[in-house]
Amino acid sequence: MDIKTLSGNVYSYLRRTNEIVSGVVVDNDYQWNFSPLHAFSAMLEVEMFIVGITEQCNLRCTYCCYSGAYENNRSHGKRILTSDDISDIYDFIRKMSNKKHIRVSFYGGEPLLHYQLVQYAITKGQELFGNCIGFSISTNGTLLTKDKIDWLISNNVEIAISIDGTRMFHNAHRVDAHGNGSYDNVYEALSYIKHFYPEYVASVVLQMTLTSYRDIIQIAEEWDNDDLLKYFTPSNIHGLSPNFANGVERIDYEEVKELYTQILDKYERNMDNVVLNVFFDECIAYWKDRPIVDAGSAVPMATCMPVNTKLYIDSKKEIGVCEKVADKYRIGNIKDGIDWSLANEIIEKYYQQRVKRCRYCPAIRMCDMCLTAIEYTDEQWNVLCHNERVYARVFMFLYCEMAERGLLK
Ligand code: SF4
Ligand code: SF4
Repeated sequence: MDIKTLSGNVYSYLRRTNEIVSGVVVDNDYQWNFSPLHAFSAMLEVEMFIVGITEQCNLRCTYCCYSGAYENNRSHGKRILTSDDISDIYDFIRKMSNKKHIRVSFYGGEPLLHYQLVQYAITKGQELFGNCIGFSISTNGTLLTKDKIDWLISNNVEIAISIDGTRMFHNAHRVDAHGNGSYDNVYEALSYIKHFYPEYVASVVLQMTLTSYRDIIQIAEEWDNDDLLKYFTPSNIHGLSPNFANGVERIDYEEVKELYTQILDKYERNMDNVVLNVFFDECIAYWKDRPIVDAGSAVPMATCMPVNTKLYIDSKKEIGVCEKVADKYRIGNIKDGIDWSLANEIIEKYYQQRVKRCRYCPAIRMCDMCLTAIEYTDEQWNVLCHNERVYARVFMFLYCEMAERGLLK
């Protein structure tokens, strides 16, 4: 894989050693070998349990993976856990985790629709695990009233709020069933936190989903000019999950490079911008921190099982490897525990797909494909792998371009 920076310098990436070198150097012949897969019957690293309190949500975000538009996912439903379920979940957690300290994260739907149940679950968890348990909650922010914020912060609960940029961008997609935007409620919650808990501002997790990265320059400008938002830093900025029911386009290297170059030009003129800082940190994170090490003859495949650090428990009390893996692929339930043969079967299928595809792929070391891809057909994998390789090359270009311009921090 090679790139040319805007000043005309050419750099090549070598998969075997993870190096970037000057000029065109081809290492296409090097074959990447994965170590053989071994059957497993334990997950020793799990320390985080994501609990789907309810399938209900008060919003109808246009891109929601529970909108019914995603083939292998549920639609917005009615299920809610009960207090008995919470006790059963803690029994499962006790049996499942070897870790001294665990984390429980409340998820939905919108978990704050059932705030009393969330409070019950936190209080019960504290009773059972004392200081060895921590909590977080993922919320759309619309129900974060003052009393709830007070209680969650006083109980050391990490609050993760979705905010898709500034008003116009957020309200274009994060809407209720009548199409009304939810930005003002989120903003009010952030304003309350900033005013009454200034020391907590840095701990708020802000999740920003963008339907198009073309919006980021305007969002970045508006964010920095906003008297409240400028104090908050988005924790991550990401695009939409692929939805083949709506079609997923094969992206073009030159087009994506051009867009990212425009964003980089803006960043170069305004390197204190928090949104652009987060955006570029994420783009070049792999390249900046990559170890320069020879891959040798065989390497283990990084999979989400059995070395996963988290598990997802949905409102049906079924277990998923993570909240992002399609609902169709559950690996057990809290009563009977993990179905190890099912878990091994899923990994085997994923492993075979990677072995078949990845040996000569230039993106092998930085590829973000994961077990979520288990639901895709061969043709869908082809599209996603193409896009993954384009992004790997664009991010390498950005890294080299930023190095040449003196923009690496
Ligand atoms: S808040 Fe979350 S669960 Fe609710 S509609 Fe939006 S994306 Fe879906
Ligand atoms: S992009 Fe596809 S082929 Fe390349 S490493 Fe990732 S999964 Fe394998």
